[in-house]
Amino acid sequence: MRCSSGPCPESGVLPTAHPLPSSLIFRQEAAPNVPVRPRGSKLHSAEPAKAEFAPARVFCGRILHRGRIIPAEVGVSEEGRIVKVAPTVRGGQRVDLADQLILPSAIDLHVHFRDPSPPGAVESFPSGTLQAALGGVGAVVDMPNTDPPTTTLDRLEEKEGLVRGRSEVDVLLLAALTSRTRVEELAPRASGFKLYLAPTTGDLYEPGGPSQKELLERVARSGSAVHVHAEDPALFRSDLRPMDPGAWGAVRPEGSELRALRGLLPPVPGLRLHVAHATSTAALEVATGAGWSTEATPHHLLLHATPHQDARWKVNPPLRSRSTRDELFRAFVDGRITMLASDHAPHPLGEKERPFFEAPSGVPGVETMLPLLLARVREGELSLGTILRAASRRPALFLGLPRGQIAPGMEANFMVVDFRDRRTVRAKELHAPCGWTPFEGREGVFPREHYHLGQRIVEDGEFVGDHQGRLLRRGGGAAQLPTSADPGSYRPSVLPSGGRRVA
Ligand SMILES: [Zn+2]
Repeated sequence: MRCSSGPCPESGVLPTAHPLPSSLIFRQEAAPNVPVRPRGSKLHSAEPAKAEFAPARVFCGRILHRGRIIPAEVGVSEEGRIVKVAPTVRGGQRVDLADQLILPSAIDLHVHFRDPSPPGAVESFPSGTLQAALGGVGAVVDMPNTDPPTTTLDRLEEKEGLVRGRSEVDVLLLAALTSRTRVEELAPRASGFKLYLAPTTGDLYEPGGPSQKELLERVARSGSAVHVHAEDPALFRSDLRPMDPGAWGAVRPEGSELRALRGLLPPVPGLRLHVAHATSTAALEVATGAGWSTEATPHHLLLHATPHQDARWKVNPPLRSRSTRDELFRAFVDGRITMLASDHAPHPLGEKERPFFEAPSGVPGVETMLPLLLARVREGELSLGTILRAASRRPALFLGLPRGQIAPGMEANFMVVDFRDRRTVRAKELHAPCGWTPFEGREGVFPREHYHLGQRIVEDGEFVGDHQGRLLRRGGGAAQLPTSADPGSYRPSVLPSGGRRVA
């Protein structure tokens, strides 16, 4: 009954012609205590009752399962749910993906799509979510430092109106956390709060004060989460005139990140606090010790500051030294960073060409986040499982959404990847209206296809969707999570604070 006609080995190993040796892909995955299931056994023993329903479509390819790539068939219902994953799934229309990989779409926890914003902004929900779709990102969390900023229920509702009918992938919205924020009013509606501990767009920064702890306690009681931009301006060197990213790192040093994080100690009991864009292993240690989750961006993982870079590489927090970057990358490889996020924050080239110290901070990245890291997998620098946990599974658990895994009960949000498809990242081939990328010339493995609720939105690397993106909320999604013993069931205690694996 298998429909794969290509070199789809029953052994579960990659074809010898495949450029990615399985020993490299799985070196993080093949824990010695993971039993290898005999061939033909059920891939998931605890399937919900829905799994008995005949799927509308069956996608035949390969999946990553318990540290191994194996041939599998993925049955998807008419409603866009995965109803069965097995060596053979009967019924429905069959989609032959040969030996290509079916991977869960990523969730980008940190984007700035600049919507709403005054005329002249180079991003919006339509353009940002289009780039997300082409980069294998099926859901994004948009930040509140828009113009005007998302500080009240009215503003949040206005922004929700900008998402609906204009988005190509799913969108979740954060509200800003300031002393004026009505936490209890916004918590049920927003997908969390963003706390800026340093000045940012939209006047959302308020220097410390006794109200901060009380604010965080109110968020904890509401059951929501706080994403923190951790830089303490007390250590900024405003006397310096930076001319390149290395000097920018001296203006906003690693110490300011550490000081901001330490200023949040002791942890507020019961608060889910998430540290955005961690730049050093020292910052990771503070966060992990406090039980907070962390994210790292592709630019902090893959780029370091050099004297030859111009303001296109100006970002907050700044790019660090090569050695700091290397340590951060090793931490990511080891699974010590909870999640991957792009901090996609584009600016027009004209603004980036202003003198360095005047130019705005931020880089585009939602379209290249996953392809850049998949290229590192291809080169054997990290495992596929590490990427999927950091980009798909953990963000889904963090947000309480039924996605992030190829498993029964999950929404059918997935991409099709062929590791032979590597290509050089070129701004002119990307879809960012800003027209540039800090990753020009690097290798990327872009998804060939992308499915949203079982519907194809990217085909042969081209966008074919039609505004199917939904406005989602934390812990919501379109339906409830499976209640079976499936490991995808959402339990707050499952989320690792830093180094511990969930899979
Ligand atoms: Zn940001």
